[in-house]
Amino acid sequence: MEEKIVFGPVPSRRLGQSLGINNIPPPKLCSYSCIYCQIGRTVNFSTERAIFYPVEKIVSEVSLAIKKLTERGEEIDYISFVPDGEPTLDINLGKEIEALKKFNIRIAVITNSSLLWKVDVRGDLKKADLVSLKIDTVDREIWKKINRPKNSLSFEKILEGIKIFSSEFGSTLITETLMVKDINDGNKVIEDTAIFISGLKPAIAYIGIPTRPPSEQWVDTPEEEKVLYAYKIFTHYGIKTELIAGGCTGTFGFAGDIENDIVNTVSVHPMSKKQIEELLKKASSEWTVMEKLLSEKKVNEIEYKGEKYYIRNFK
Ligand code: SF4
Repeated sequence: MEEKIVFGPVPSRRLGQSLGINNIPPPKLCSYSCIYCQIGRTVNFSTERAIFYPVEKIVSEVSLAIKKLTERGEEIDYISFVPDGEPTLDINLGKEIEALKKFNIRIAVITNSSLLWKVDVRGDLKKADLVSLKIDTVDREIWKKINRPKNSLSFEKILEGIKIFSSEFGSTLITETLMVKDINDGNKVIEDTAIFISGLKPAIAYIGIPTRPPSEQWVDTPEEEKVLYAYKIFTHYGIKTELIAGGCTGTFGFAGDIENDIVNTVSVHPMSKKQIEELLKKASSEWTVMEKLLSEKKVNEIEYKGEKYYIRNFK
């Protein structure tokens, strides 16, 4: 059966309607074997870039997909390289991005950042309109536990590559930090990660938790207190931060249904009691709405520095 390179579009909070490109053929080829990977453990490890598909094949598949979507009146916000594996292992990535620019649709690459120490990888990524960098930790030992990198990788070189890339990249840089219970959710670990990310000046830093079946069954979601702490520390360091958890709603905002509005909002931004009260007031609603959401376990109440906060119940 012929491999299908283009999929979607899939709704994504980060990228809107995103037409995905799987530029790494199966089985998953990656430089990491993250404990939370939803594609399972990595069997094919690599840090060497290689040719996988002819550039023209990718372009013609994208062209066909866009034609069909246009006929149906659908629009795409991003063409995104989000393969089953690490997209920068594709040595043609830069050429593919350049060739896809003719469609006048923004191009995104979601990378695990492990090859950013390579000049050619940084050069290719610079051609994209948005690059998402995975930064789960800046602690070498924790990196080994959570991302389980290929032995030959140097963490120091990766962090240096990330810094260089962020200083050179002229388009939208975002980061993604996935928190796993008892692995990278300690206060100091989170603060060190926040300090490092703040130096990169990302447009948005996303904090995620494992919500889909992870590669290792024992992987668990951190307590809401830890997620709230991470959100607070990130924002303390001046980083625009959002949570991604509990699936993707596609849209986020005030749709007129106060219960959904609150659940959707606290899924992304934990809110203080005062903020919730203001929101309820605007919607001419009462605190009973919150009582209902709390009793249905849709939201959790957490105390932080003497103030009550509300956060989505991720479990
Ligand atoms: S970097 Fe991505 S594809 Fe690779 S193992 Fe981690 S989660 Fe899976």
